[in-house]
Amino acid sequence: MRPRPQAQQRHRRSTPRQCSAAALLCLAVFGCAEQESPAPASGRPIVLIVVDTLRADHLGSYGYPRPTSPAFDRWARGGALFERALATSSWTLPSFASIYTGLYPRQHGAGDRLDQEEWGVTGLDPELPVLAEILSEAGYVTGALANNPFLHEKFGVARGFADYRWHLGTNEVIRRADKTVDLALEWVDARAGAPFFLLVHFFDPHMDYDPPVGHRGRFTGSYRGKLPFPVTDAAKIKLGWIPLDDADRAYVTGSYDEEVAFTDEQLGRLLQGLEERGLMGEALVILTSDHGEELFERGSFEHGHSKYQELLHVPLVIWGEDVKPGRIDTPVSIVDLFPSVLEAAGLPVPEGGVGISLLPAATGRGRPPERPILADGTLHGRRKHALIRWPWKAVAVPAQEETLLFNLEEDPGEQRNLADRHPERLRAMLAEFEAISPPRSREGPAAEIDAGVREQLEALGYATPPAADGPVASPGGVPDPGSAPPSPDHSKR
Ligand SMILES: [Zn+2]
Repeated sequence: MRPRPQAQQRHRRSTPRQCSAAALLCLAVFGCAEQESPAPASGRPIVLIVVDTLRADHLGSYGYPRPTSPAFDRWARGGALFERALATSSWTLPSFASIYTGLYPRQHGAGDRLDQEEWGVTGLDPELPVLAEILSEAGYVTGALANNPFLHEKFGVARGFADYRWHLGTNEVIRRADKTVDLALEWVDARAGAPFFLLVHFFDPHMDYDPPVGHRGRFTGSYRGKLPFPVTDAAKIKLGWIPLDDADRAYVTGSYDEEVAFTDEQLGRLLQGLEERGLMGEALVILTSDHGEELFERGSFEHGHSKYQELLHVPLVIWGEDVKPGRIDTPVSIVDLFPSVLEAAGLPVPEGGVGISLLPAATGRGRPPERPILADGTLHGRRKHALIRWPWKAVAVPAQEETLLFNLEEDPGEQRNLADRHPERLRAMLAEFEAISPPRSREGPAAEIDAGVREQLEALGYATPPAADGPVASPGGVPDPGSAPPSPDHSKR
């Protein structure tokens, strides 16, 4: 492993003086006199792959019986796979902001709703240091292929990326995974030999479920029910406005799985392409997701509304020449990617973050510490907090004074609320949440999105005022507290 500098800096952006000192390091070590940016301490290439809306338990490596992920499974055997990786939120913007800052949603502030009645959210605080900017200032060439409207630069998540290739992310017009892989490999080839940091983001498993030819029908072939192809109307399904029977729900789930299978095929192309370029050893390559997808476990659908495991449990695998292949079952979080990437780059980690580097665990130098893992940030309905101290999981909806407590070891489906049986444990866990993640002292900046982005969010059923709160019916008897899906009146389809 490359040595990690001892010097630490506070969790804020670099000052010009710091940049100047680093530039001198660049000049001395790399001779890059004409560059203003300093060179990195290691220069190790870093590829961060984020598959939007990919729940871990729909992949073979995480126990799914359907053959959705042969490529992922094959490659995962050569990496360090984290069995209990958790997203910090159940929707895109706060989770990505956590990856970029190493902070939980209430700490970084991105994705906070501005108003309970009118739609609008905060962007990422421009004062917080972010991964791409730190790497860029250290001399990395930075690039991103982003395919979700919530990853538009207006939300503050493009900062630090010198080459930010954002694409429309509506239900109808997406940059599919095959095109994304083509562009990613072209981007890498154009920067051969340079220290680079590349984000590759896939949108395909997100609604609409529109699997391309070759995967279409693989898991849904015999369906002749009322739902169309592709599967649309996320908001109406979510609200129960389209009554579904078991066959309909199986069709929706099968369509999701077909999108996952297509993405897996393209992920295999990407990893093979990196392998052929010698990067599956030299580079640090990370794959994860920003959140999962509810597929009717509690009678609801899609994401952004709850803190159940189908939305928080995400895949996480790390590859590299120094990685020891294996599986790690200690709970970890996507906040841990911030210090992990910086360690791989040989750069100091700003103080004040809550993540820990996963490289010691990935390289066989020890297990991650057992610690509480948090999730926060809610797009639809009242804000919900969750804290997992394995195997216990506490969830609170402060606005409604509702609480849930589960034992994930004995009840992985979160069907038995044990809040009344263990009130002291629940109280202690919720107090721990407040201690680790106190409210921010100031609100994040309002994201001033233009008409085009808003139109895309509306097409996804997102840019809508929240509906009145109320529990969503649950087949297992545990309601989704404070859940309020968006009104379908505002959805285009
Ligand atoms: Zn997402």
